[in-house]
Amino acid sequence: MTKNPQKPLKPAAHPLDDLIRTERIPHIWCPGCGIGTVFSSTLKAIKGTGIPYDRFTMVSGIGCSARGAGYVKLDSFHTTHGRAIPFASGIKMANPDLNVIVFSGDGDLFAIGGNHFIHAARRNMDLTVVCVNNLTYGMTGGQVAATTPNRAKTTTTPFGNPDAPFNLPLMASASGASYVARWTILHTRDLTDSINEAMAKKGFSFIEVLSPCPINYGRRNKEKPLDTLKLYQERTIIKNGADPARADIDFDRGVILGKFVDIDRQTCDSMYNSVCRPCSDD
Ligand code: SF4
Repeated sequence: MTKNPQKPLKPAAHPLDDLIRTERIPHIWCPGCGIGTVFSSTLKAIKGTGIPYDRFTMVSGIGCSARGAGYVKLDSFHTTHGRAIPFASGIKMANPDLNVIVFSGDGDLFAIGGNHFIHAARRNMDLTVVCVNNLTYGMTGGQVAATTPNRAKTTTTPFGNPDAPFNLPLMASASGASYVARWTILHTRDLTDSINEAMAKKGFSFIEVLSPCPINYGRRNKEKPLDTLKLYQERTIIKNGADPARADIDFDRGVILGKFVDIDRQTCDSMYNSVCRPCSDD
């Protein structure tokens, strides 16, 4: 019999444990998926504000990225497909002191939820929207999305996508967003700082994050996870203040990252107070 039997190892504490529902781990995200990196940057940004966690809420729609709302240890809402922004807008209008973060994917926010996105930006609703853009519908099997590059192969475009994708920074900026930025999962420090800055910004803030889906996009386009990361490293350029009209995603030409928009404009709740409150007092 051994004199000093080995004690079972105690799992090491993770610095973000206080923001994660650890009882729900392991998560559903596939090996090589970039969502976890975006999620951890978002949690680090929340932690970095020093604001008590009960002053935050996270809302997501449906899809792989949208699972984030189920893993975060905040008051959070995993809502219906495409409807994260209306839920978040309702929460913000009911409790303007809350920091409301929408964490969802490109399919959820820009296809079924596209109309909600443009109107929340137009109204300058005080939300921070983090969009994980993996260029496809990952969870449902890799169908073509509103963000899929022209000619890319998906389950529903086996010969290549004949359509042009949305330019998300251009759409956000043209709709009226106060803050617009784009990063990739390789740029985690910039991403964390940007989410932190966006949370402090009054008005509609939008951050697009390019993130690989090796299982349902990379596989069909003969792009291994490391190939995607190489594209993020070698075919991107940081140009703060660039014209969002030049922010198309075309890795042959090069993809622009950075902060495109940072403007001050009256927010929806402050306009509501100045226009509607005097009438309701009559
Ligand atoms: S299907 Fe794609 S986006 Fe979804 S978890 Fe897997 S790799 Fe990530």
